[in-house]
Amino acid sequence: MTYPTQPVASHYVHGAYVEDSAGAPMEVNYPATGEVIATLHEATPAIVDRALDAAREAQAEWAALSGTERGRVLRRAADIIGARNHDLSVLETRDTGKPYQETSVADATSGADALEYFGGLAGSLTGEHIPLPGGDWAYTMREPLGVCVGLGAWNYPTQIACWKAAPALACGNAMVFKPSETTPLCALKVAEILTEAGAPPGLFNVVQGAGRVGAALTTDPRVAKVSLTGSVPTGKRVYAAAAAEMKHVTMELGGKSPLVIFEDADLDDAVGGAILGNFYSSGQVCSNGTRVFVHRSIRDTFLDRLAERLQGAVIGDPLDPATSFGPMVSEAQLQIVQSYIAKGVGEGARLVTGGQRLDRPGYWITPAVFADVTDDMVIAREEIFGPVMCVLDFDDEDEVIARANATEYGLSAGVFTRDLRRGHRVIAALQAGSCFLNSYNDAPVELPFGGVKMSGVGRENSKAAIEHYSQMKSVYVRMGRVEAPF
Ligand code: NAP
Repeated sequence: MTYPTQPVASHYVHGAYVEDSAGAPMEVNYPATGEVIATLHEATPAIVDRALDAAREAQAEWAALSGTERGRVLRRAADIIGARNHDLSVLETRDTGKPYQETSVADATSGADALEYFGGLAGSLTGEHIPLPGGDWAYTMREPLGVCVGLGAWNYPTQIACWKAAPALACGNAMVFKPSETTPLCALKVAEILTEAGAPPGLFNVVQGAGRVGAALTTDPRVAKVSLTGSVPTGKRVYAAAAAEMKHVTMELGGKSPLVIFEDADLDDAVGGAILGNFYSSGQVCSNGTRVFVHRSIRDTFLDRLAERLQGAVIGDPLDPATSFGPMVSEAQLQIVQSYIAKGVGEGARLVTGGQRLDRPGYWITPAVFADVTDDMVIAREEIFGPVMCVLDFDDEDEVIARANATEYGLSAGVFTRDLRRGHRVIAALQAGSCFLNSYNDAPVELPFGGVKMSGVGRENSKAAIEHYSQMKSVYVRMGRVEAPF
């Protein structure tokens, strides 16, 4: 397999790559081997400043175009991404360690979907005419917010950059994006492609660095909105900093989502859903259904089928298209996962399978399944963000709803049952933003995606995202005389 050309410098500002070796060095490791594949530099305050100025300048020019013209650029970018899917997928695999089998169908492709979808919507973003008594009337105008900041998590670097850029740019905003320092490469390619597609210089800039660079962007007075994909603790900090200046926010945060499997479920589908909802991307997915509630009457059969299916996981070179399970993104994340596995064992949960670090370079651990997990265990309460499934038993519907909702999180939830009435009733009762019935972890761009409770604020994707990247101006038009009291 050939490696695509990697980004040629650390940052992308005003339509071009920029290097500033005065910034602290950031090594990028290939998670499958640990080898250093790039050394970037953190953005200095001068780079951050240039990116924000460039975005402000580009935004005015961009907002003056018609929506159709803006949409054309986004759709062209989607086409370029589609045509380069192989190279972009290889880069995504090198950045994150996720198997090519996944990245070739779920990352650049999903980013391209967002650019195409919002490119298509851009020309139809209009206001309303509102008739009023006495011949008066009003109209509303949908306006861009200005310069938006995107802050990315490390698990889906191409997708996150596109999911934020596409609605923001469609609405006439510009963006400065800071990827996670763990996976900084892919967003640079998105920036490069947007320029190639005709975006004005400065419309989408990428600056690298750790949280402090994100914090500098969040508090800058040139910024109107901050959209974060990350953990709840970071979300609290970023939300508070943005609130101090009354900035708009979107918060796509973590979860500990329930997946409820009733006794009448199609067992193979339910096992498939549990695998997708726990082991895709080696478990590094925010919406994962990591608390798998299985009806006590089918618990043992479920565990047997699951163990059988896990035998089929192909753990190996992520660039080999046959590989279906890759490494963790970093040594630090692997150690977090190992510490949770040790806690689970210590708390008395039964480790049915997996959870062993593999004796090879890179950050490898086998998919782990715990049974006999109880609600009070740390592994059932905290987000692990790794391949650790917790199986919990339940006896009846009301009980499982109450237990599923007994968490501060509310990102996702899934239900497997053949009883459609029950399926819809239980989904309606579950406190989660993105739900699945007889499925798990589907995220097409047409659907709103996001959480309730501590899992987030706002929605990405779908027409709902437009509300979060634009503001309404309403204009009252009086057709008669103005009657004042004096
Ligand atoms: P994270 O540690 O919260 O970081 C997210 C981003 O915020 C990174 O770019 C990070 O920079 C930056 N950051 C950290 N502190 C900041 C601050 N004070 N001000 C501004 N920016 C700051 O999350 P992660 O470990 O990368 O990703 C895993 C988490 O993301 C999990 O909790 C997962 O559930 C969540 N996630 C949610 C979704 C969703 O759509 N709901 C999707 C994917 C992941 P550095 O890390 O580079 O220092």
